[in-house]
Amino acid sequence: MTGRLFVLSGPSGSGKSTIIARVLDTLDIDFSVSVTTRQPRPGETNGLHYWFISRIDFQNMVGAGQLLEWAEYNDNLYGTPARPIDSANAIGRDILLDIEIQGARQVRANRPSAVMIFIAPPSIEVLEQRLRGRGDTSDEDIAERLLIANEQLKAASELFDFVVVNDHLDGAVDEVTTLITGAI
Ligand code: 5GP
Repeated sequence: MTGRLFVLSGPSGSGKSTIIARVLDTLDIDFSVSVTTRQPRPGETNGLHYWFISRIDFQNMVGAGQLLEWAEYNDNLYGTPARPIDSANAIGRDILLDIEIQGARQVRANRPSAVMIFIAPPSIEVLEQRLRGRGDTSDEDIAERLLIANEQLKAASELFDFVVVNDHLDGAVDEVTTLITGAI
């Protein structure tokens, strides 16, 4: 049986990363490790959270058609290597992608059967509080991320199969888990 492709998107600070970590802990599903040109944050491991690569290497991968999708976000490039996904799916493994919305749009076009889930914060105010609370993001970065979040929220309902509002973490994790297991 062919594996399925699940896409999780959502504004930074929506709690998406926490939800994904919990889902990966409990479900038998692979995670698609993206390539990125951004610098690793403390605690991030090459090959586990991302493959951290140079802009030149990234552009070469784009040129060679090795990425299923890619996008520029906050001055950094992010992309999903296609081969690990095809290999996983070919042996019946499901795989989860954590990508932003421009990339999600490309996946929707290239893989119409992908199951696409959008994680929404309860409100833009809550999102701002969470970003500020993280303490690792500059004011300029926060303003930029909030602008992007506003755009994303508008586009979400059209592009995604499901929107999960993260007003309560355990509930949101349960909802995403049910959506994934229900689709498998
Ligand atoms: P961060 O730098 O905080 O890890 O990620 C910033 C944004 O890039 C997040 O919304 C994350 O989902 C997105 N992202 C991570 N990997 C990819 C990817 O391979 N492709 C795209 N389009 N977005 C990605």
